[in-house]
Amino acid sequence: MEIKKSEIKGTTKVVGLIGYPVSHSLSPLMHNTAFKKAGIDWIYAPFPVHPDSLEDAIKGLAALGIIGVNVTIPHKENVIQYLDEISDEAELIGAVNTIKVRTDETLYGANTDAIGFRTALEKDGGFEIAGKKIAIIGAGGVAKAIAVVCALSGAEKIILTDIVEEKCDAIIKIIKKANKKIKSAYYKSGDAELGQAIKGSDLIVNATPVGMRSNDGSPIPTAWLPDKGFVFDTIYNPTETPLLKSSKQKGLKTQNGILMLLYQGAAAFEIWTGIKPDIKVMKEALFSSEK
Ligand code: NAP
Repeated sequence: MEIKKSEIKGTTKVVGLIGYPVSHSLSPLMHNTAFKKAGIDWIYAPFPVHPDSLEDAIKGLAALGIIGVNVTIPHKENVIQYLDEISDEAELIGAVNTIKVRTDETLYGANTDAIGFRTALEKDGGFEIAGKKIAIIGAGGVAKAIAVVCALSGAEKIILTDIVEEKCDAIIKIIKKANKKIKSAYYKSGDAELGQAIKGSDLIVNATPVGMRSNDGSPIPTAWLPDKGFVFDTIYNPTETPLLKSSKQKGLKTQNGILMLLYQGAAAFEIWTGIKPDIKVMKEALFSSEK
Protein backbone atom coordinates (compact mmCIF):
# COMPACT_ATOMS: atom_id res chain seq x y z
CA MET A 1 0.00 0.00 0.00
CA GLU A 2 1.30 3.42 -0.93
CA ILE A 3 1.43 5.71 2.11
CA LYS A 4 0.69 9.34 1.24
CA LYS A 5 2.55 11.87 3.38
CA SER A 6 0.18 14.05 5.40
CA GLU A 7 0.40 17.77 4.71
CA ILE A 8 -0.58 18.55 8.30
CA LYS A 9 2.45 19.00 10.50
CA GLY A 10 3.16 19.92 14.11
CA THR A 11 3.56 23.53 12.99
CA THR A 12 0.34 23.77 10.95
CA LYS A 13 -1.88 26.72 11.92
CA VAL A 14 -5.58 25.99 12.23
CA VAL A 15 -8.65 28.08 11.33
CA GLY A 16 -12.14 26.74 10.68
CA LEU A 17 -15.89 27.05 10.66
CA ILE A 18 -18.22 26.88 13.64
CA GLY A 19 -21.88 26.21 12.82
CA TYR A 20 -24.60 23.59 13.13
CA PRO A 21 -24.62 21.91 10.68
CA VAL A 22 -21.39 22.58 8.73
CA SER A 23 -21.17 19.51 6.51
CA HIS A 24 -22.56 21.34 3.44
CA SER A 25 -19.96 24.12 3.56
CA LEU A 26 -17.72 25.03 0.62
CA SER A 27 -15.46 27.15 2.84
CA PRO A 28 -12.95 24.36 3.66
CA LEU A 29 -12.36 23.76 -0.06
CA MET A 30 -12.07 27.50 -0.81
CA HIS A 31 -9.70 28.34 2.06
CA ASN A 32 -7.51 25.25 1.92
CA THR A 33 -6.93 25.85 -1.81
CA ALA A 34 -6.02 29.48 -1.07
CA PHE A 35 -3.60 28.52 1.76
CA LYS A 36 -1.83 26.13 -0.58
CA LYS A 37 -1.57 28.79 -3.27
CA ALA A 38 -0.22 31.32 -0.74
CA GLY A 39 2.40 28.75 0.30
CA ILE A 40 1.46 28.97 3.98
CA ASP A 41 1.18 26.07 6.39
CA TRP A 42 -2.45 26.61 7.42
CA ILE A 43 -5.58 24.43 7.34
CA TYR A 44 -9.30 25.23 7.51
CA ALA A 45 -11.41 22.63 9.35
CA PRO A 46 -15.16 22.22 9.94
CA PHE A 47 -16.31 22.28 13.60
CA PRO A 48 -19.95 21.24 14.12
CA VAL A 49 -20.89 23.01 17.36
CA HIS A 50 -24.31 22.43 18.92
CA PRO A 51 -25.91 25.65 20.27
CA ASP A 52 -25.59 24.28 23.84
CA SER A 53 -21.81 24.03 23.40
CA LEU A 54 -21.16 27.43 21.80
CA GLU A 55 -19.66 29.09 24.89
CA ASP A 56 -17.32 26.14 25.55
CA ALA A 57 -16.25 26.08 21.89
CA ILE A 58 -15.47 29.81 21.79
CA LYS A 59 -13.61 29.70 25.10
CA GLY A 60 -11.58 26.77 23.78
CA LEU A 61 -10.31 28.57 20.68
CA ALA A 62 -7.39 30.33 22.40
CA ALA A 63 -6.66 27.30 24.57
CA LEU A 64 -6.29 25.14 21.44
CA GLY A 65 -4.12 27.71 19.65
CA ILE A 66 -6.70 28.15 16.89
CA ILE A 67 -6.04 31.35 14.90
CA GLY A 68 -9.65 32.14 14.05
CA VAL A 69 -12.98 30.84 12.81
CA ASN A 70 -15.87 31.66 10.56
CA VAL A 71 -19.24 31.53 12.27
CA THR A 72 -22.40 30.41 10.52
CA ILE A 73 -26.04 29.46 11.22
CA PRO A 74 -27.21 29.43 14.02
CA HIS A 75 -24.42 31.19 15.97
CA LYS A 76 -23.78 34.52 14.21
CA GLU A 77 -25.71 36.61 16.74
CA ASN A 78 -25.30 34.60 19.95
CA VAL A 79 -21.53 34.44 19.60
CA ILE A 80 -21.09 38.19 20.18
CA GLN A 81 -21.52 37.86 23.97
CA TYR A 82 -18.35 35.74 24.18
CA LEU A 83 -16.09 38.16 22.24
CA ASP A 84 -13.85 40.92 23.64
CA GLU A 85 -14.25 43.40 20.78
CA ILE A 86 -16.21 43.58 17.53
CA SER A 87 -15.91 45.86 14.48
CA ASP A 88 -18.22 48.89 14.17
CA GLU A 89 -19.95 47.24 11.22
CA ALA A 90 -20.55 43.97 13.11
CA GLU A 91 -21.89 46.03 16.02
CA LEU A 92 -24.37 47.80 13.73
CA ILE A 93 -25.41 44.56 12.02
CA GLY A 94 -25.58 42.67 15.31
CA ALA A 95 -23.89 39.59 13.83
CA VAL A 96 -20.35 38.23 13.51
CA ASN A 97 -19.19 35.74 10.89
CA THR A 98 -15.42 35.95 11.45
CA ILE A 99 -13.45 35.68 14.70
CA LYS A 100 -9.73 36.27 15.12
CA VAL A 101 -7.87 35.11 18.21
CA ARG A 102 -5.32 37.87 18.85
CA THR A 103 -1.83 37.15 20.14
CA ASP A 104 -2.90 38.27 23.65
CA GLU A 105 -5.71 35.65 23.35
CA THR A 106 -8.50 38.26 23.21
CA LEU A 107 -11.23 37.55 20.64
CA TYR A 108 -12.08 40.02 17.86
CA GLY A 109 -15.24 39.65 15.74
CA ALA A 110 -16.06 41.06 12.30
CA ASN A 111 -18.82 40.67 9.73
CA THR A 112 -17.57 40.02 6.21
CA ASP A 113 -20.99 39.02 4.74
CA ALA A 114 -21.75 42.71 4.13
CA ILE A 115 -18.59 43.44 2.13
CA GLY A 116 -19.01 40.06 0.38
CA PHE A 117 -22.46 41.04 -0.83
CA ARG A 118 -21.45 44.55 -1.92
CA THR A 119 -18.34 43.42 -3.78
CA ALA A 120 -20.20 40.65 -5.63
CA LEU A 121 -23.08 42.93 -6.60
CA GLU A 122 -21.08 46.02 -7.55
CA LYS A 123 -17.84 44.55 -8.92
CA ASP A 124 -19.16 41.48 -10.73
CA GLY A 125 -22.84 42.33 -11.11
CA GLY A 126 -22.13 45.92 -12.22
CA PHE A 127 -24.99 47.19 -10.03
CA GLU A 128 -24.36 50.40 -8.06
CA ILE A 129 -26.29 50.53 -4.77
CA ALA A 130 -26.22 54.34 -4.32
CA GLY A 131 -29.55 55.99 -5.16
CA LYS A 132 -31.43 52.69 -5.71
CA LYS A 133 -34.64 51.19 -4.34
CA ILE A 134 -33.88 47.77 -2.85
CA ALA A 135 -36.35 45.08 -1.77
CA ILE A 136 -35.03 42.41 0.63
CA ILE A 137 -37.07 39.22 1.07
CA GLY A 138 -36.46 37.72 4.53
CA ALA A 139 -35.30 39.61 7.61
CA GLY A 140 -32.88 37.14 9.22
CA GLY A 141 -29.12 37.30 9.80
CA VAL A 142 -27.94 37.74 6.23
CA ALA A 143 -30.71 40.26 5.46
CA LYS A 144 -29.41 42.41 8.31
CA ALA A 145 -25.89 42.51 6.86
CA ILE A 146 -27.26 43.29 3.39
CA ALA A 147 -29.62 46.01 4.62
CA VAL A 148 -26.83 47.71 6.60
CA VAL A 149 -24.35 47.68 3.72
CA CYS A 150 -27.03 49.02 1.34
CA ALA A 151 -27.85 51.81 3.81
CA LEU A 152 -24.15 52.66 4.28
CA SER A 153 -23.67 52.62 0.49
CA GLY A 154 -26.34 55.29 -0.07
CA ALA A 155 -29.42 53.30 -1.17
CA GLU A 156 -32.45 55.59 -1.62
CA LYS A 157 -35.00 53.18 -0.14
CA ILE A 158 -35.08 49.76 1.49
CA ILE A 159 -38.19 47.58 1.52
CA LEU A 160 -38.25 44.54 3.80
CA THR A 161 -40.58 41.60 4.14
CA ASP A 162 -40.64 38.58 6.43
CA ILE A 163 -43.14 36.16 7.93
CA VAL A 164 -42.43 37.86 11.26
CA GLU A 165 -42.97 41.64 10.90
CA GLU A 166 -41.05 42.49 14.10
CA LYS A 167 -37.83 41.26 12.47
CA CYS A 168 -38.30 43.84 9.68
CA ASP A 169 -38.99 46.60 12.20
CA ALA A 170 -35.77 45.78 14.07
CA ILE A 171 -33.74 45.99 10.83
CA ILE A 172 -35.36 49.30 9.84
CA LYS A 173 -34.27 50.76 13.20
CA ILE A 174 -30.69 49.62 12.51
CA ILE A 175 -30.53 51.02 8.97
CA LYS A 176 -31.88 54.40 10.13
CA LYS A 177 -28.87 54.56 12.45
CA ALA A 178 -26.57 53.79 9.50
CA ASN A 179 -28.22 56.31 7.14
CA LYS A 180 -30.57 58.95 8.51
CA LYS A 181 -31.83 59.98 5.06
CA ILE A 182 -32.83 56.51 3.88
CA LYS A 183 -36.50 55.82 3.09
CA SER A 184 -37.90 52.50 4.26
CA ALA A 185 -41.00 50.35 4.45
CA TYR A 186 -41.84 46.82 5.53
CA TYR A 187 -44.63 44.37 4.80
CA LYS A 188 -45.66 41.04 6.20
CA SER A 189 -45.03 38.35 3.57
CA GLY A 190 -48.18 37.85 1.49
CA ASP A 191 -49.38 41.43 2.19
CA ALA A 192 -51.48 42.83 -0.69
CA GLU A 193 -49.28 45.97 -1.02
CA LEU A 194 -46.03 44.02 -1.05
CA GLY A 195 -46.32 43.10 -4.74
CA GLN A 196 -46.51 46.74 -5.85
CA ALA A 197 -43.60 47.70 -3.60
CA ILE A 198 -41.42 44.93 -5.01
CA LYS A 199 -42.41 45.77 -8.58
CA GLY A 200 -41.13 49.31 -8.08
CA SER A 201 -37.66 48.18 -6.92
CA ASP A 202 -34.38 48.38 -8.82
CA LEU A 203 -32.92 45.40 -6.95
CA ILE A 204 -34.62 42.39 -5.33
CA VAL A 205 -32.56 40.29 -2.91
CA ASN A 206 -33.65 36.87 -1.70
CA ALA A 207 -32.30 36.54 1.86
CA THR A 208 -34.51 33.56 2.77
CA PRO A 209 -33.54 29.90 2.37
CA VAL A 210 -36.53 29.47 -0.01
CA GLY A 211 -35.11 27.93 -3.18
CA MET A 212 -32.54 25.65 -1.53
CA ARG A 213 -34.69 22.52 -1.32
CA SER A 214 -35.54 20.65 -4.52
CA ASN A 215 -39.32 21.10 -4.04
CA ASP A 216 -39.05 24.84 -3.22
CA GLY A 217 -40.68 27.46 -5.41
CA SER A 218 -39.81 31.16 -5.54
CA PRO A 219 -40.27 33.28 -2.37
CA ILE A 220 -42.29 35.79 -4.46
CA PRO A 221 -44.77 35.30 -7.34
CA THR A 222 -43.39 35.93 -10.85
CA ALA A 223 -46.08 38.59 -11.36
CA TRP A 224 -44.33 40.76 -8.73
CA LEU A 225 -41.07 40.94 -10.69
CA PRO A 226 -40.35 44.39 -12.17
CA ASP A 227 -40.02 44.88 -15.93
CA LYS A 228 -36.39 45.87 -15.57
CA GLY A 229 -33.85 45.58 -12.80
CA PHE A 230 -31.61 43.16 -10.95
CA VAL A 231 -32.38 40.05 -8.89
CA PHE A 232 -29.77 38.74 -6.43
CA ASP A 233 -30.25 35.41 -4.66
CA THR A 234 -27.99 34.79 -1.64
CA ILE A 235 -28.42 31.05 -2.23
CA TYR A 236 -25.58 29.39 -4.19
CA ASN A 237 -26.72 25.76 -4.09
CA PRO A 238 -28.59 25.21 -6.40
CA THR A 239 -26.84 27.67 -8.70
CA GLU A 240 -30.17 28.68 -10.25
CA THR A 241 -33.11 28.92 -7.86
CA PRO A 242 -36.73 29.14 -9.14
CA LEU A 243 -36.57 32.91 -8.42
CA LEU A 244 -33.46 33.36 -10.58
CA LYS A 245 -34.92 31.17 -13.33
CA SER A 246 -38.15 33.17 -13.62
CA SER A 247 -36.24 36.47 -13.35
CA LYS A 248 -33.94 35.43 -16.20
CA GLN A 249 -36.94 34.37 -18.29
CA LYS A 250 -38.34 37.87 -17.77
CA GLY A 251 -35.09 39.38 -19.06
CA LEU A 252 -33.86 40.66 -15.67
CA LYS A 253 -30.18 40.65 -14.68
CA THR A 254 -29.50 37.94 -12.10
CA GLN A 255 -26.75 36.78 -9.75
CA ASN A 256 -26.55 33.93 -7.24
CA GLY A 257 -24.71 33.92 -3.89
CA ILE A 258 -21.49 32.16 -4.88
CA LEU A 259 -19.44 35.33 -5.35
CA MET A 260 -20.78 36.75 -2.08
CA LEU A 261 -19.41 33.59 -0.44
CA LEU A 262 -16.11 34.12 -2.25
CA TYR A 263 -15.61 37.73 -1.17
CA GLN A 264 -16.71 37.19 2.43
CA GLY A 265 -14.18 34.34 2.56
CA ALA A 266 -11.44 36.48 1.02
CA ALA A 267 -12.03 39.20 3.63
CA ALA A 268 -11.89 36.61 6.44
CA PHE A 269 -8.64 35.17 5.00
CA GLU A 270 -7.08 38.63 5.16
CA ILE A 271 -8.25 39.21 8.75
CA TRP A 272 -6.60 35.95 9.87
CA THR A 273 -3.40 35.92 7.82
CA GLY A 274 -2.75 39.61 7.16
CA ILE A 275 -2.25 38.82 3.47
CA LYS A 276 -4.57 39.15 0.48
CA PRO A 277 -5.57 35.75 -0.93
CA ASP A 278 -5.45 34.81 -4.59
CA ILE A 279 -9.11 35.48 -5.44
CA LYS A 280 -8.85 33.70 -8.80
CA VAL A 281 -7.73 30.47 -7.13
CA MET A 282 -10.46 30.68 -4.46
CA LYS A 283 -13.03 31.28 -7.18
CA GLU A 284 -11.81 28.33 -9.25
CA ALA A 285 -12.07 26.09 -6.18
CA LEU A 286 -15.67 27.19 -5.57
CA PHE A 287 -16.70 26.79 -9.19
CA SER A 288 -15.04 23.36 -9.42
CA SER A 289 -17.47 22.20 -6.71
CA GLU A 290 -20.38 23.03 -9.04
CA LYS A 291 -19.26 20.54 -11.69
P1 NAP B 1 -32.23 33.17 8.71
O1 NAP B 1 -31.57 33.98 9.80
O2 NAP B 1 -32.96 31.93 9.04
O3 NAP B 1 -33.18 34.19 7.92
C1 NAP B 1 -34.11 33.84 6.93
C2 NAP B 1 -35.37 34.67 7.19
O4 NAP B 1 -36.26 34.55 6.08
C3 NAP B 1 -36.14 34.20 8.44
O5 NAP B 1 -36.53 35.32 9.20
C4 NAP B 1 -37.34 33.47 7.82
O6 NAP B 1 -38.47 33.46 8.66
C5 NAP B 1 -37.58 34.34 6.60
N1 NAP B 1 -38.41 33.70 5.57
C6 NAP B 1 -38.47 32.39 5.24
N2 NAP B 1 -39.33 32.21 4.21
C7 NAP B 1 -39.81 33.44 3.87
C8 NAP B 1 -40.71 33.92 2.89
N3 NAP B 1 -41.31 33.08 2.03
N4 NAP B 1 -40.97 35.24 2.82
C9 NAP B 1 -40.36 36.10 3.68
N5 NAP B 1 -39.51 35.70 4.65
C10 NAP B 1 -39.22 34.40 4.75
O7 NAP B 1 -31.11 32.74 7.66
P2 NAP B 1 -29.84 33.60 7.15
O8 NAP B 1 -28.66 33.29 7.97
O9 NAP B 1 -30.23 35.03 7.01
O10 NAP B 1 -29.62 32.92 5.73
C11 NAP B 1 -30.58 33.08 4.68
C12 NAP B 1 -30.01 32.50 3.39
O11 NAP B 1 -28.88 33.27 3.02
C13 NAP B 1 -29.47 31.07 3.56
O12 NAP B 1 -30.36 30.18 2.99
C14 NAP B 1 -28.16 31.03 2.80
O13 NAP B 1 -28.31 30.27 1.62
C15 NAP B 1 -27.93 32.46 2.39
N6 NAP B 1 -26.59 32.92 2.77
C16 NAP B 1 -25.69 33.09 1.78
C17 NAP B 1 -24.42 33.57 2.06
C18 NAP B 1 -23.44 33.75 0.95
O14 NAP B 1 -22.28 34.05 1.22
N7 NAP B 1 -23.85 33.64 -0.29
C19 NAP B 1 -24.05 33.87 3.38
C20 NAP B 1 -25.00 33.65 4.40
C21 NAP B 1 -26.26 33.18 4.07
P3 NAP B 1 -38.69 32.18 9.63
O15 NAP B 1 -37.50 32.16 10.55
O16 NAP B 1 -39.97 32.51 10.31
O17 NAP B 1 -38.76 30.99 8.72
